[in-house]
Amino acid sequence: KTSALRVVGDDASSTAIPNDLQAFWMPFTANRSFKARPRMVARAKDMYYFTPEGKPILDATAGLWCSNAGHNRDPIVQAIQKQAAELDFSPSFQFGHPKAFELASRIAALAPNDLDHVFFCNSGSEAADTALKMAMAYWNARGKGAKTRLIGRERGYHGVGFGGISVGGIVPNRRFFGALLAGTDHLPHTYDREKQAFSKGEPEWGAHLADELERIVALHDAATIAAVMVEPMAGSTGVLPAPKGYLKRLREICDKHDILLIFDEVITGFGRLGAPFASERYGVTPDLLTFAKGVTNAAAPMGGVIARKHIHDAFMTGPDHIVELFHGYTYSAHPLACAAGLATLDLYRDEGLFEKSKAMEPIWADAVFDGLKDKPGVLDIRQVGLTAAIDIASWKDAPGKRAFVAMDKAFHDEGMMIRTSGDCLVVTPPLIMSESDAGQIVEKLARVIDATAMPA
Ligand code: PMP
Repeated sequence: KTSALRVVGDDASSTAIPNDLQAFWMPFTANRSFKARPRMVARAKDMYYFTPEGKPILDATAGLWCSNAGHNRDPIVQAIQKQAAELDFSPSFQFGHPKAFELASRIAALAPNDLDHVFFCNSGSEAADTALKMAMAYWNARGKGAKTRLIGRERGYHGVGFGGISVGGIVPNRRFFGALLAGTDHLPHTYDREKQAFSKGEPEWGAHLADELERIVALHDAATIAAVMVEPMAGSTGVLPAPKGYLKRLREICDKHDILLIFDEVITGFGRLGAPFASERYGVTPDLLTFAKGVTNAAAPMGGVIARKHIHDAFMTGPDHIVELFHGYTYSAHPLACAAGLATLDLYRDEGLFEKSKAMEPIWADAVFDGLKDKPGVLDIRQVGLTAAIDIASWKDAPGKRAFVAMDKAFHDEGMMIRTSGDCLVVTPPLIMSESDAGQIVEKLARVIDATAMPA
C-alpha cells in the first residue's frame, strides 16, 4: 500500500510515499517532501555520517550542534554499554545513584563563579521550562510571588515546551499554539544587517539594545518581573552573536531591578564558543544557566539547569516542605546519560577540546570569510566561536523558496550536512575539526553556493 500525497518540497515529480515511511511522523520536517526523497544516515564516526549505502557525509553541523567531540567516540560508547549492563535505571525521585552526583559536581566545577547546583532533565526544551519554573518558584520562596513575568527576546529559541515557545521569539514556533503563557514580553533581537555586515565574532554595534529592558521594566514594573532569558548567541534563528557589551549591560539592568538573568547555553555550552560556557567567554554570570546537547556529546539525551548558590539556598533554607522544588522528570539524571556525560567530560578534558575550539576560531573565521565573502548572492556572514551563518539572497532553482527547500538535496549530493534557517546556511562543525576539515567544509559550501545561489 502506498499513498499519493501532494509534495511541497524539492521533488514535486515524485508523490508516492512508501508504506514503511508512513508511521514515523518526523519532527520539524516537511514530511511529505522528505518521504518522497528520503535522506538517511545509518552510521557515524568522528567527522562523518554514512548513508545506508556507505556514502560518507561530512558532518558540518555536529549533528544538531551537539556531537562536539565527533561521532561514536569509543570511550563514550563503552561507558554507555557498561552502564546499561550495570544499572539501567534508578528512580529519580527520593533516590539517587553515584554517577548523578559525580556528574553534577563535574558540571558545577566547569561552570563559572558560584553556578554550583545542577538539576537534570532530558533535553534543551525541558531545561528551558525548568529554568523558567525555577525562577518563578524562587521568587515565591523569597516571599515575592508577584514576580512572575518572563522576558525573552525576538528571534530567541528556547525549545518547544510552552514556556520555551512563549519566552522564545521565533514566530513560526509560536503561531499555531494558542494563547501561550500569560505575562511574557520580549526584548528586540540584536541583528542589523547594515550596521553589523560581515562582522567576525561579536558585532561592535548593538550593546545599547540591552537598554530596551529598562523600557520593559518601566512598562510592567520590576515587582512583576521574575526573569530575563536569552541565548548568549542566538543559534537556531541563524547565528546572532551578542553585540560587544550587550550581555554585561543586561546583567547590570537585572541587578538594578532585582530580576533574574537566565542564559540558555544549550548550544553555547561545552566548548562551542571556546570556553566551557559562553558566560565565561563574556565574563557575565547568569543566575540560572541551561545546558543540553554537548553534555553527553549527544550520545544520550540529557539537559539541565545550573543554579547559583543564592537560588539554591532560597529553596534549602525556606520552610521545611516535603520537597523543595515540586518539579522533575522520570528520566532526570538517567544512569545511561550520566555515564555518557562523565565519559564525555573526560574526553573534552583529555583532548583539550575547549582550548582547541578557542585556538581554531580565528582559523575557522578566516577560512569562512575569505572563502565565501565575495561570492555572488552572499548577503552577510556571521560567526562566533566555531559557528558560521551565511545569508543567501535567493536560489536559482527555487526562487522565493526557503533555503532548506533549495539546498538540502544539493548538500546531500555534495556529501555534507549543514543546517538551514530561513534563507541562511548554518555551519557548526564538531570541535575536533582540523584545519583541513575546515578548508573542505568551506570548499563544499563555495561549490554549492556557486551552483545554486542567485546573485543579489
Ligand atoms: N535552547 C536552545 C538555545 C537551543 O538551541 C535548543 C535546540 N536547538 C533548545 C533550547 C531545545 O533543545 P531540545 O531540542 O533538546 O529540546
